[in-house]
Amino acid sequence: MWSRRSWIAGAAAMPAAAQPGGAKNIVISSANGIACCNIAMAHMRANKDTLDAVIAGVNVNENDPNDDSVGYGGLPNEEGVVELDASVMHGPSRRAGSVASIRNIKNPSKVAKLVMTETDHIMLVGEGALRFAKSMGFAEENLLTEKSRLAWLAWKKSHLPNWTDGVDAPMALRRLFPEASDELLAYAWDRAKNPPTGTINCLALNAKGEMSGCTTTSGLAWKIPGRVGDSPIIGAGLYVDQDVGAAGSTGRGEENIRVAGAHSIVENMRHGMSPKDAVLDVLKRISRNFNDDKARLTKFDINFYALRKDGAYAGGSLWNGQLRRTGFVSRQFAVNDGSGNSRLENCVYLYERK
Ligand code: ASP
Repeated sequence: MWSRRSWIAGAAAMPAAAQPGGAKNIVISSANGIACCNIAMAHMRANKDTLDAVIAGVNVNENDPNDDSVGYGGLPNEEGVVELDASVMHGPSRRAGSVASIRNIKNPSKVAKLVMTETDHIMLVGEGALRFAKSMGFAEENLLTEKSRLAWLAWKKSHLPNWTDGVDAPMALRRLFPEASDELLAYAWDRAKNPPTGTINCLALNAKGEMSGCTTTSGLAWKIPGRVGDSPIIGAGLYVDQDVGAAGSTGRGEENIRVAGAHSIVENMRHGMSPKDAVLDVLKRISRNFNDDKARLTKFDINFYALRKDGAYAGGSLWNGQLRRTGFVSRQFAVNDGSGNSRLENCVYLYERK
């Protein structure tokens, strides 16, 4: 008898055309995914499914309290609550799953996979997503670390009239957090003043030509509760077509949703564009939405990652470069082609920040 499980297993068992000319495993991700790509590659070497490989990879970031853009330790919404979004797509079975605005669950990527494999739905949100995760055996935990709580309080004090008493420097935070190090206070102040975006997207292709992808995030820091970005939106934060390739995104989700970025990139590749040109084309569409006005475009960053079925890949950004305390650094993305440790490669870009 037909069942969802047998259908998925059947689809997964279908042979995929191998990459022409030297098939190999390839994993790419956003720049915060050096360790993620190493783990994903190790799983593929051990003949694990590509989706399990990318999920194992992004779990590193979800579990890392120091990655403040993903999972545990992610920066919270404006009420101080961490809300996570994640999506998965499995090329061989041509299926997808996602969760949005899920609270108290550290690994939304795993929940997204269970939405895909255990339900007849694609997306669960908020309270329903949490209840589903609990029914699948996930334990609720507090995802707010002391570091992210401090950054949230710094933001609150600097932006909300009722919380402001002339606070305009990290020194004032010292009264609230007498034990915190200077470095931690500087971090909190920086995050409050420059609300960061951040996410991990990871795409994989194995030597059999099978592809999968995952995107997971805590979304925009200090967002309105319930705000959902692009990451869990199939076709925006992630898209995989087993016949063509895969794409994903990090950065300002609102702009990506407006161009259905990941899907548009895959369609560009379907019509013959290289991953690099496919990404640049979608970045141009985003620019066009602002009449190419650089004064407005400079207020945000957005990045795409593309991996074609034949193993060609690219990362691309609207802007080259970002200002860090250490100076100007190029936009990069992580790659592991099975030849050793993951490395960072430079993104192609549309505009250059001076
Ligand atoms: N794309 C994510 C979002 O908009 C955030 C990010 O990648 O920085 O939620």
